[in-house]
Amino acid sequence: MSIPVLIAAKRDSFMNIHEYQAKALLRSYGAPVSDGRVVLRAEEAKTAAGALDGPLWVVKAQIHAGGRGKGKFKEAGAGDAGGVRLAKSVEEAADEAKRMLGRTLVTKQTGAPGKQVNRIYIEDGSGIETEMYLALLVDRVTSRVSFVASTEGGMDIEEVAASTPEKILSFSVDPATGYQPFHGRRIAFNLGLTGAQIKQCVALMGTLYKMFIEKDMEMLEINPLIVTDKGDLKCLDAKMSFDSNAMYRHSDIAELRDTTEEDSKELEASKYDLNYIALDGEIGCMVNGAGLAMATMDIIKLYGAEPANFLDVGGGATKEKVTEAFKIITSDPQVKGILVNIFGGIMRCDVIAEGVIAAVKEVGLKVPLVVRLEGTNVEKGKEIISTSGLDVIAADDLKDGAEKIVKAVKG
Ligand code: ADP
Ligand code: MG
Repeated sequence: MSIPVLIAAKRDSFMNIHEYQAKALLRSYGAPVSDGRVVLRAEEAKTAAGALDGPLWVVKAQIHAGGRGKGKFKEAGAGDAGGVRLAKSVEEAADEAKRMLGRTLVTKQTGAPGKQVNRIYIEDGSGIETEMYLALLVDRVTSRVSFVASTEGGMDIEEVAASTPEKILSFSVDPATGYQPFHGRRIAFNLGLTGAQIKQCVALMGTLYKMFIEKDMEMLEINPLIVTDKGDLKCLDAKMSFDSNAMYRHSDIAELRDTTEEDSKELEASKYDLNYIALDGEIGCMVNGAGLAMATMDIIKLYGAEPANFLDVGGGATKEKVTEAFKIITSDPQVKGILVNIFGGIMRCDVIAEGVIAAVKEVGLKVPLVVRLEGTNVEKGKEIISTSGLDVIAADDLKDGAEKIVKAVKG
């Protein structure tokens, strides 16, 4: 399986929340976090900062992406200091918040377009002795929850994994026994913790594991987990992803969803119950079945192009659903060609054909379109397309379809 497919499949089932929301959840479970206030409008900044003790404030842009500290704002006037800033007074904290609100922050994780900052979190500044890395995640290889810990906190963990993998401790927890104190001690010793910190670590890891299971998380990352200047453990940053398929039983978490952080095309697709993931390539794909969709993306890559999306229209799609799917694909300015690849089983080829034609009538077709139909009602589907007057390139099979669309786009 190709990497983008894996990433797509992974992202597809996630719901992310903001740092301040994750910290509120941590707090409710008794995990150590700083006191903080969220700010949605510039006028609220001063009151929010004033509600905290000081003498140090930290002003943090809330976006669904990490690397904020080292990020940069696109607009002039937002300063160059990134999305996490220290302030020494209430006024300074309020000014920093005002500077960031509404601006676009670009970090390693946002990609070039960046993300607009619509919420700010102002929290008490901590004296930091050491920064460490800690995460819990669902390990797909062992089908278990794994802990990942490292002394290299505050850094990009992918970089640590690549350059100094020996600095990362990772192990999975047997679901039959669940979390045990020895798990926590193993992490504590590996992180070089001493004295009371070991006890704190054993308790904190137990709390994190409990939250992770109870809330159906997919990933929980504390980077950095710190030892404060007073010698105590504290969660200084928090990133949480939840299994979207489990949200029906966590209305408290589902409420935290911030749709402004999501890709607009993916959001639109979710309204129509379409399995759509935006990607970076130039070939839009409309396929039925997740497996065939992945194979289609792979073969597009094999012929030298990149898929613009993953899309599984599903088995029981209606003409309306297909029309919406096609409209979402064509709304992506990066799409330079479209490949429709349908192997009709439950999905009927004539329904797909009608959907495609209805969509083209509505939004037009400015890029080459290759259609490969096979299976149930294939003759009917082909006839609908051939009599529609649409400028469609017909393909016989998957290989032929991929070759034709890549050729049409790349010449
Ligand atoms: P990101 O990972 O998005 O860059 P973090 O929350 O990890 O954001 O913040 C980046 C860095 O800023 C941390 O590694 C830490 O050094 C510092 N920092 C963050 N929050 C605080 C705080 N409350 N007090 C002191 N320093 C902080
Ligand atoms: Mg961080």
